[in-house]
Amino acid sequence: MSAIDDLATELSKLPGIGRKTALRLTYHLLKQRPEQSRRLADALTTLAERVRPCVRCFNLSEEELCGVCRDPRRDPTVICVVEEASDIGAIERAGEFRGVYHVLGGRLSPLDGVGPEDLTITALVDRAGQEGVREVILATNPSLEGEATALFVQRGLASAMGAQIAVTRIARGLPVGGDLEYADGVTIAQALAARREMA
Ligand SMILES: [Zn+2]
Repeated sequence: MSAIDDLATELSKLPGIGRKTALRLTYHLLKQRPEQSRRLADALTTLAERVRPCVRCFNLSEEELCGVCRDPRRDPTVICVVEEASDIGAIERAGEFRGVYHVLGGRLSPLDGVGPEDLTITALVDRAGQEGVREVILATNPSLEGEATALFVQRGLASAMGAQIAVTRIARGLPVGGDLEYADGVTIAQALAARREMA
């Protein structure tokens, strides 16, 4: 395989990049100065080496604890549960939430072979018990799988903690099947404000 094919193959594995776009990007890089390509390669290497999951909430971080967990102004007694670390950015942009997060690392998806043991649900239940948590807000995506995941997590928390904590679900103001990540700040703020306790 040639160097051109190698890079095009790797680029075409990225979301939204087909073979054609991958080749176009590869030829674009070839026309650039070599230093530019080297900077891109360095940035990718640094990303892979430095970014890792926060030991407490599984948000992405370059430190042991992420920026949110390290921030003393955040309220550690309210945990907002999201599917992916990228969802945190969307909620932070809305600027309303002052609690902390927990990243599940995906959602339950039997068809894709993703079960409860593949997500950080056990770590969440432990956290909810240890840190004097008052409320867990389930902000998984408003898809079928996201709803099923929220229900599963709610049951896990209820059986471990009973009525000691409130488990709430964000309101359905978000478009069904839509991704939290792409929702606008106002919609997210409204969905959070109108959250309801799960029975
Ligand atoms: Zn964290």
